[in-house]
Amino acid sequence: MEEKTILIRNAKAIVTCDEQDRVYANADMLIRGPKIAAIGQNLTDSYDTCIDASGKFVYPGLINTHHHFFQTFVRNLTTIDYPNMTVPEWISKIYQIFQIIDDEVIYYSSLTAMADLVKHGCTTAFDHQYCYTKATGKRPVDRQMEAAAQIGIRYHAGRGANTLPPSEGSSIPENMVETTDAFIRDCDRLVSLYHDPKPYSMSQIVPSPCQPMNCYGDTFAETVRFCRDKGLRMHTHLGEGENEFMEARFGKRTLEYCAELGFIGPDVWIAHGWELTPEEWEVLGRAGTGVSHCPTPAILGGFPILPMREMIARGVCISLGCDGSATNDGSSLLDAMRLAWMMQCFYSKERGGSVSPYEILKMATVNGAKTLGRDDLGSLEPEKGADLFMIDAGKLELTGTLHDPKNLLPRAGVTGCVDLTMVNGRVVFENGELKGVDEYRLAEEGERVCTRVLRNPCDAFHHLV
Ligand SMILES: [Zn+2]
Repeated sequence: MEEKTILIRNAKAIVTCDEQDRVYANADMLIRGPKIAAIGQNLTDSYDTCIDASGKFVYPGLINTHHHFFQTFVRNLTTIDYPNMTVPEWISKIYQIFQIIDDEVIYYSSLTAMADLVKHGCTTAFDHQYCYTKATGKRPVDRQMEAAAQIGIRYHAGRGANTLPPSEGSSIPENMVETTDAFIRDCDRLVSLYHDPKPYSMSQIVPSPCQPMNCYGDTFAETVRFCRDKGLRMHTHLGEGENEFMEARFGKRTLEYCAELGFIGPDVWIAHGWELTPEEWEVLGRAGTGVSHCPTPAILGGFPILPMREMIARGVCISLGCDGSATNDGSSLLDAMRLAWMMQCFYSKERGGSVSPYEILKMATVNGAKTLGRDDLGSLEPEKGADLFMIDAGKLELTGTLHDPKNLLPRAGVTGCVDLTMVNGRVVFENGELKGVDEYRLAEEGERVCTRVLRNPCDAFHHLV
């Protein structure tokens, strides 16, 4: 059967993020099925559907490399105020809520985060799901796959786990601890159900122990064995303030500890990394292990700002993540791009300059794809997946900025909803509407679930200032 074609006609600019950093002016894009067939001027008059892109700037879909969707219903809580607490204080309070999350919360909070992502130009999302409670059972990733199919986003599910009980020093409540065996068994089940390694895949599985501090070493070693056998990628939190603890327990820093367990390489990426040393950047650069930079929680927590230029010079691949909503309160990568760029500018005098806004855009596109192992995504070129978003360059607030579409988004702070988002050749968001879902009904149902499962039973929602 012939695949359907879409012609995106007469875009004001197409920012490709390809290796030559090409920007096409007044150009068309022909899409065949899930992929881009051609980009150029006056491509063809033969197509099934036409999208008039006059006056629009077109960008590659953004790729999120760290998040915790399950935290989306723990937002806007001044009673558990991350910026004004130490991390151990925060963990002791926030887990009181996490431990009663059920699979309805997982489903609706994932829908909420995915909607936020798609509305702000994200087309592929990785999520680190480590919330396994008595009430969720093993269902969270299954429920997230349902949500992703509804929203139409590409979804890489990080199957997380915490295996070390509090009696042995972890900071996780007893009832959220799993065994390594149960974790690997469930990864195996999820891989057989959802992992599609083929080009244009819409769902993949990434075994992702939560963090070395709260897992046995065996959990990491078994993950490495399992993933290398199946050809999967791996992920964890690393270099986010845990080194003092790891040195006291194991006499070594976290990266060295993980490397000894084999948990390093081009198939591994880590979240945060703000506590890493220049020698450790070298190690990551040589190994091909990427870092997901999550600017919002770094700012809210008052953590050190990554010296990106030095890290890049040592070969570290930096991508962008929102991080979980308990330390972000939103899920917009457009917002993360602007914040990431401004954070670099904050130190530009003492660090010899900042990366450019366009380099930040490439972190959120090209580097995100590389991090997730997707050579079919990240830029707008023939044979790549048709994942893109458009903004209306004719809006009054953008007047005077239009000479440089490559740098525009982080520089001018284009952080509101985009005008169109396409994933895999399918429009999933256009003119303020999510396609194929009754947004307001889902929002009402989500509010009801939040109230029943979290707001009513938890004190934190009752003593608000
Ligand atoms: Zn995280």
